[in-house]
Amino acid sequence: MPERTLLIHRDITALADFVRNHHADFPTVIATNLLSMRFVRKEAAAGLRTTTLKQLSQRMLAGQGIRVMSEFERRKVLQQVLENIPLKYLPFNRPTLRQLSSIFSELMHAAIPPEKPLLVARTAREQDVAHCYQAYLTHLKAHLLADPAAVEFFALSCPAEPAAFLVYGYPYFDRAQLELLNRVCAAGSVITLTSEKHRVLRKASASQHELERLGWKVKQAANSSRQTVGTQAVHHLLEGQGPVPEGITHTALSSPETEVQQVFGHVHQLLLRGVLPEDVVVVVRDQDTYLPLVREASRRLQLPILCGQMLPLSYTHPARLVLSLIRANQKHWEHHAALEVLQHPLSRFADEINLKRKSLKVPPQRLQDWKLGEDARVLLLPAQASGASYGDLIREALAFLGLGHTVRGTHQTAMAVSRVLDILQSLSMLEKLTLEELRLELLEDFMDVGVPTVYSQRGVRIASPLALSGRKYQQVFVLGLSDTLFPQRPGADVLLDDHIRERWERSGVALVRQGERMHTERAYLHACLNTAIAKLHLSRPLFDLQGRALDPSPLCRNFQSAPALQEAVAATEMEAGLQGRVEESVQLRAKLELSRQKLHTSPHHGQVHWTVPKNHVWSPSQLVKFGNCRFQWLAEKALKLLPFPEVEKNLQRSTQGTFYHKVLEELLRPHVGTHPDAETLLAELPAAFERAEKNLLDTGELPPLPHWAFQRLELQQNLQNFVKSPFFLFQGSVPQQLEVHIEHTLHLQNGPFTFRGIVDRIEQTGQGTTVVDYKSRGYISEVRKADGSKLEVQLPLYLMAVNGQLGRYLSILNREKHLLRSVGPASADRGYSWESHQQEVLDFLENTATSVDQGEFPPTPGEGTCTLCDYGALCRVKARQA
Ligand code: SF4
Repeated sequence: MPERTLLIHRDITALADFVRNHHADFPTVIATNLLSMRFVRKEAAAGLRTTTLKQLSQRMLAGQGIRVMSEFERRKVLQQVLENIPLKYLPFNRPTLRQLSSIFSELMHAAIPPEKPLLVARTAREQDVAHCYQAYLTHLKAHLLADPAAVEFFALSCPAEPAAFLVYGYPYFDRAQLELLNRVCAAGSVITLTSEKHRVLRKASASQHELERLGWKVKQAANSSRQTVGTQAVHHLLEGQGPVPEGITHTALSSPETEVQQVFGHVHQLLLRGVLPEDVVVVVRDQDTYLPLVREASRRLQLPILCGQMLPLSYTHPARLVLSLIRANQKHWEHHAALEVLQHPLSRFADEINLKRKSLKVPPQRLQDWKLGEDARVLLLPAQASGASYGDLIREALAFLGLGHTVRGTHQTAMAVSRVLDILQSLSMLEKLTLEELRLELLEDFMDVGVPTVYSQRGVRIASPLALSGRKYQQVFVLGLSDTLFPQRPGADVLLDDHIRERWERSGVALVRQGERMHTERAYLHACLNTAIAKLHLSRPLFDLQGRALDPSPLCRNFQSAPALQEAVAATEMEAGLQGRVEESVQLRAKLELSRQKLHTSPHHGQVHWTVPKNHVWSPSQLVKFGNCRFQWLAEKALKLLPFPEVEKNLQRSTQGTFYHKVLEELLRPHVGTHPDAETLLAELPAAFERAEKNLLDTGELPPLPHWAFQRLELQQNLQNFVKSPFFLFQGSVPQQLEVHIEHTLHLQNGPFTFRGIVDRIEQTGQGTTVVDYKSRGYISEVRKADGSKLEVQLPLYLMAVNGQLGRYLSILNREKHLLRSVGPASADRGYSWESHQQEVLDFLENTATSVDQGEFPPTPGEGTCTLCDYGALCRVKARQA
């Protein structure tokens, strides 16, 4: 072919046939990308020379000493250029930078010379865009740099050495590519293009029209002898009549998650059946929605995938760590926000913090409470600062956490770290801003910039429609065929709206308009369908990730009557269970769980054999626990399986109790041995309150609480009511000892039995030695006996220890009934008998000693006990089953 030829066909297989049969006539084949190059070499089965237009351009630029910038350098240079331009309309900020960057790409792809927009710009806004464009290109030219977004445009200014090329795989060309091809292609060159006069192929037809104008001769390629599903799919797409060809499915699923799950279930089955991973491709148009789900699914099913697409940085660990750091500072390092940073997988403190969480009694609420050394101060960020200082401070903080330019982990993590550090450096153009403004800025940047998703040697290909151009796969899955996902519908450009673009076009500056973007989406779908050899599976979600209903894609209405893909065979045990096919081994385990919950005796019924030392010392609360559920006592007191500490945001009941006790002790301490009157005590109460507060804050027993200022008023009021009640201090009673630690041994039939405890107050009254125990509300802990009745053991034990006559439970908060109950020999309560009460307590102790000797600690569920128990997951008993 001496002339330059444009060979067209709607079916890529026909064009691939031409490449296979005629490649030997051309020294080099130009393909769309690396994938396409590999495909062409495979098809030709010979040592074919291949390149891409991008590579060709880069070589031409390198020949002239022009360097292609990196993505980050591009942002930096653009920023520098803009700093020196007096803008009339646009503000100098990062959103402007982002919008200009995207418009410049469009202008370069449209091969618009630097000075041209200035001739057509009318308004101040347009003039700003035009000035900046000219200044940017002038700067690049002066510094021998090229923009990576459109290298073909820069190659246009380089001398070309025309040769006979065969061009394959492009679905359409932009103006810069066309002009470049026109310069480098000598006579005899052939460009292949999937073009036809049809609205679906409008982009390709426009390229065809342009090449014809440049003198290229258009020829129709011969039909391929190979019949692929792709060929039939394209035919059906263009003709839109008759039933959907065989081998094509169309499935509607509830959400992108179920869609990915279903598709990957099928891919999993295909690989199990021996299909090679290289023969399968999953096409994803909306990367933000699908790539994270795809990554998750491939990990869950351990499916190898290859994906050169860019995952937004915001989904990566390094970006998340930066956002968590900002959040922790906004929340003043409150417990959970701090954990997000310190226990982050990339933090070098992750293990240390894990250990500290178990040992620190009070959950730290400030950064310094974690005791990470003086250097940890670098993690503190000011509430307001300039972008440059925030950038420096966050980099320092990341280095302290162990994140530098070198990082352990996958290649993707290393790239993500380097991109995050670059972005932090680019903060320098931001003026003073708050932490929240910084967070929003970074969030936007992290969504803008991406990292390659997965690197792997061999696997199922995950690709964008454009990356597929020219390739063929046996099994093709196209995801997300719902309106707004595929086709995507980006919002109108705020700098150059369609009205301006139309005017610019009339003056020779042709940029794509909103309405024309649909042509690109159609070209993408055409490329996807063209790819399939044996099977083509189209799918769509009915709702998006936010739960909004989605219409079917207007691009592929013709395919909606195709049969749906069969539900995938479960790939995991869990999925099989959800489909109602539970494996025998799982059923056995479920049976065992049920038997444990029903407390059936078996090797798994929750009992642990444990030898309690002979000299074990009991406390009343331990005895109550033991009496109510031995397993609970064993787990907490013997095995010391402490529940995970809760972050206190409100005053916990136990802390409140400690506080009341401490204030009352402080109040009565100066009056031991006397009988103070209520007025004196009320007058002294505020000072006692403050002493107790200081004391408990110093010891860490009272954590810093957000609403403490209000809570302390309420507590003070409660104590005032209690102290002025006649029950607080009976007429003539004289406090003798406060907060008395007692330890006492009883000699039971089983041997000695020692218990200890703290008596709140011992006083002398008309009835003799009296023991007082403060309760917050009306609850007195009691042991549940076999017949269901209850037995109170605390004050009887104390009375036996101090040889007392009367025990009184006083409620601090119950204003109706401050005196809850009296026990002991001097109790005058109706129907009460100390002898029988004491005997029952002794019987219970005998029983306890016997059980301990036998080493039996079965769970004994009870509605009240189980509700507040932390060990339900261990004993497998739930309260409702009690
Ligand atoms: S949940 Fe109930 S049965 Fe289980 S250990 Fe706790 S109190 Fe005992």
